[in-house]
Amino acid sequence: MDDRFIGDIIYERLVNTYSIDLEDFVAPRLRHTNLFEFTVAVILSQNTSDVNAWRAYSRLLEVAGEITPSKILNTSIDQIAEAIKPSGMQYQRARKIKELAGAFIERDIVGEVEKTLREKGVEEARRKLLELPGIGPKTADVVLLMWFNAPSFPVDTHITRITLRLGYVARRNYEEIRRFWMENTNPQLYLPLHLLLITHGRKTCKARKPDCINCVIRNHCSYGASSK
Ligand code: SF4
Repeated sequence: MDDRFIGDIIYERLVNTYSIDLEDFVAPRLRHTNLFEFTVAVILSQNTSDVNAWRAYSRLLEVAGEITPSKILNTSIDQIAEAIKPSGMQYQRARKIKELAGAFIERDIVGEVEKTLREKGVEEARRKLLELPGIGPKTADVVLLMWFNAPSFPVDTHITRITLRLGYVARRNYEEIRRFWMENTNPQLYLPLHLLLITHGRKTCKARKPDCINCVIRNHCSYGASSK
C-alpha cells in the first residue's frame, strides 16, 4: 500500500506527464522582481488569463517607467486604468494598486512580513498581507509561496475545479481547498504541484470536457471513476 501523501502521489503522476515552463506563468516569471512589482503583477492576474495579465503588466511598465511605489504614486488613476485595461476591472484595480503603493511607501512591508514569518509563522504572515489593499487570499498565497518561499498553497479556478472533481472537498471554498492540499502534500512540492495542477486543468481536466480517459490521476478521481 502506498502510504505517501495523496498530493505527493498526484505530483509524481503529473510531473511525469507535463513539463512546466515557468515562462507560461506570470507570477513565477516575475519572482525575482521587487515585492511591490511582483504583487502588482499578481493583482493583475486575478480572474484573467496569463496572456491578458502579462499585457496589462507590460503596458503599466511602459506608462510608469518602472513599477515602484513612488512611480505608481506619480501616475494618475486614469493612466494606470488605461494601461491595465487588458486585465479587466481596470478602475477598481488601479485604485487598489495606488493604495498599495501608499502602504509600501509608509511601511517596510518586506521587513514586516519576514519578521512575522520568522517569529509567528506563515498563517500570521498571511494575515498581515491580507490587511493590505488589493490583496486577497490567492494573492497573499502566491506572494508567500513564490516571493517569500514560505509554505502556502494558492488555489486558482483550475485547482478548485480539479479538487472538487477528485472529490477531496465537498464545496467550492478557497480556504478548505487550500487546507486540503497543504495537509496532504510535502511542503517542498507546493510550488511545482500548484503549477502542475494548473497545467492539468488547462490541458486535460478542462472545464467543459475533461479528458478522463487519458487522465493519469483518474484512479484517484470520483468524477473520473463515474465517466466513460
Ligand atoms: S479523471 Fe477526469 S475529472 Fe478527474 S482529474 Fe482526470 S480529467 Fe479531471
